[in-house]
Amino acid sequence: QPKERLDAVDSVCPYCGVGCALTYYVDRSRGAIAYAEGRDQPGSQSRLCVKGRYGWDYAASPQRLTTPLIRVDAAYPKGPLSADVRGDMAKDGGRRKGKGKGRRPGGLVDYDEVMPHFREATWEEALDLVARRLKEIHAKGGPGAIAGFGSAKCSNEEAYLFQKLIRTGFGTNNVDHCTRLCHASSVAALFEGVGSGAVSTTYGDVANAEVVIITGSNPTANHPVASSFFKQARRRGTKIVYVDPRASTVAEHADYHCQVKPGTDVAFYNAIMHEVIRLGLIDREFIAARVSNYDELARTVAEYPPERAAQITGVDADLIREVARVWGEAGSGVIYWGMGISQHTTGTDNARCLIALCSITGNVGRPGTGLHPLRGQNNVQGASDAGLIPMFYPDYQGVDRDGTRERFERAWGTKLDPNRGLTVTEIIGSVLKPGGVRGMYMLGENPFLSDPNINKVRKALSQLDFLVVQDIFLTETAEFADVVLPASSYLEKDGSYTNTDRRVQLGRKVLDPPGQARVDWEIVQDIARRVGLDWNYSGPSEVFDEMVALMPSYANLRHENLGLTGKLYPNADPEHSDGTVVLFDERFNTDDGLAHLVPAQWLPAKELPDAEYPLVLNTGRLLEHWHTGSMTRRSYALDTISPEAEVYMHPKDAADRGLAHGELVQARSRRGAIRLRVRISHREQLGNCFIPFHFREAAANLLTIDEIDPYGKIPEFKFCAIQVESL
Ligand code: SF4
Repeated sequence: QPKERLDAVDSVCPYCGVGCALTYYVDRSRGAIAYAEGRDQPGSQSRLCVKGRYGWDYAASPQRLTTPLIRVDAAYPKGPLSADVRGDMAKDGGRRKGKGKGRRPGGLVDYDEVMPHFREATWEEALDLVARRLKEIHAKGGPGAIAGFGSAKCSNEEAYLFQKLIRTGFGTNNVDHCTRLCHASSVAALFEGVGSGAVSTTYGDVANAEVVIITGSNPTANHPVASSFFKQARRRGTKIVYVDPRASTVAEHADYHCQVKPGTDVAFYNAIMHEVIRLGLIDREFIAARVSNYDELARTVAEYPPERAAQITGVDADLIREVARVWGEAGSGVIYWGMGISQHTTGTDNARCLIALCSITGNVGRPGTGLHPLRGQNNVQGASDAGLIPMFYPDYQGVDRDGTRERFERAWGTKLDPNRGLTVTEIIGSVLKPGGVRGMYMLGENPFLSDPNINKVRKALSQLDFLVVQDIFLTETAEFADVVLPASSYLEKDGSYTNTDRRVQLGRKVLDPPGQARVDWEIVQDIARRVGLDWNYSGPSEVFDEMVALMPSYANLRHENLGLTGKLYPNADPEHSDGTVVLFDERFNTDDGLAHLVPAQWLPAKELPDAEYPLVLNTGRLLEHWHTGSMTRRSYALDTISPEAEVYMHPKDAADRGLAHGELVQARSRRGAIRLRVRISHREQLGNCFIPFHFREAAANLLTIDEIDPYGKIPEFKFCAIQVESL
């Protein structure tokens, strides 16, 4: 169809935290999207990566859930725990088959096998059953028997309503989402250090920086459009220091690549601070006026001369000295970090070091300076802002803080739980304990692939008395549900999303939901009404207005004034301004207005390699796929480019084991084993492997360890011991 005959709908990419603005061109005669194009917006400037450009056809998959489902076979699949997760790769030697309803990419849930264990139901029957069972469990076990997992795939309005339902309908703060698996440790450190869990500047501000550190991140794969801003800035003179165990493509665009050993970030950054202090490159004026606890930090980092750090990190002491000098002498610098920093049992300590390094060099509060954890999902910032976390109401207002609970009780018209709730990682453990969680509502999450040590997750959640899953596909988690509610993709509803820059943008409805599938906020409202809440929201805009009234950071924002490009929050004048790029120009958000430095000592990872499991496993994402693959693996272009799981290995590690590129091998840890192909990769360090976690048939999280960071409660996805061997 020529462009002028197509219907143009302006929206936002649903994938990574960059939140690129785009336009879908819709052929209404077919009820289908013809193509997508990038659209101008300050944070994306009409750019799109392969996911935004081609990753939308999953919405038309014949595998979409179109009718509520109720389990008829109480036993299925609550049986043996490991074999069926291995799926096709184990059964067919790794070659994908096209059986099943419609085109079935390899490894996704086998609908032919699973569907007979459910029957179709009406919405009335399904919603009545959900409300009745959750109320029964609540009456018998008390508020602590209920928990909810929301999702960063949801809009701000859906996240707000979901946490409000769990808190007001069931009297518990046991509500969390996938931030617990990505940046919870960064948020813990930022909240403690600067009083705000959001970024202090945008990724576009890289253009104003003399030097940036990109650390624990592979932005080319995970934040591709932000990565293009980084590369562009370097061409204009910004120096890039890349600190990462992998030699990803960013390393080719960096002035310095510090290839640290995994799990040694605290030692590395303590040594950088040691050198910055020794060379007298700290900002004494800034420290005196705006920083607390500098002396204790200085005493701690004095224990980390570059030679000691070199032994721990594997980075040459002279390179550490050089990077410290470059950072310290620069007039402005930003640190951008990813999950290589946050997904460790020392994730909060890692982020504390980054906050301290920026603070002692005065690199916060001016253009071209600041702290930026690159958010993984398009709305993980917004879902966290909206209160989808167990310790905070919307806008990070503590549930256990004096006066806050009373304010929310007045606003929501009910008594609230005075205690912090359980996190995602704690809820799994709670199910296995007497008096723990017995009933769960899962909105858009898929912990049966995304959480660490998934055999333990499966063992726990299969013992729930009741599980309701609301999603667009029959995910690995939905297989275990008692009730499955067919929801809408982001293409089928209106709502706001907040990107990694704090940019609040509107996603607009492009298509109708298939069959009887419904928009998520309506489903949540229907359940709320059935458990006795008097909710009468007319739509997302009304929900947004209520949410904003409780969130000082979002003050003045309304759907009507978000326009086509969205607004950065905070925004004092949304009619005329794009919002605030740089935070903390005069004071930090802490009670005393100071940055609170928290020194950290380096600690080794929880499970170190040994003779039986000699390799270190690092997990993460590929450019073409997203999280548990439920959307991107049903996208023709993306699945064609990247169809199967591989273990990335250093050439010598492969040679030592006699493994050839493309060979089918077994990777095993103390927790499980998977089969997948070898990819010989010069980007890995000797002794380290990388496995993406998108693939059910070779689920990386069968191998990962469920040890967590004590502050952020985030799992150690970036470090566990494995062996890879020939079959
Ligand atoms: Fe979507 Fe992120 Fe790619 Fe932009 S960079 S198109 S938001 S996946």
